[in-house]
Amino acid sequence: MPYRYRCRQCRAESPDEHPSRADAEADQEAHRDDEHGGLAPLAGDSVDRVHAEARGHRLLPRHTGLAALVMLALVLASCWGR
Ligand SMILES: [Zn+2]
Repeated sequence: MPYRYRCRQCRAESPDEHPSRADAEADQEAHRDDEHGGLAPLAGDSVDRVHAEARGHRLLPRHTGLAALVMLALVLASCWGR
């Protein structure tokens, strides 16, 4: 799962997703040096995992998992009564 650096104070994020946390942390260090004089921004910053959902690559439509669970429960309930 890729990683991305975000600075809440600047309301900015690194343009690229990185395959490793260490690469995103390099973005963090560069941003802190360039924009904040090497200091941590007061409003905070973080290296976050980028979920597939957040990237807009949804494998299944929303609520598919819940619908599948409900169907499974109904099938089990009908089998239980026999
Ligand atoms: Zn910043």
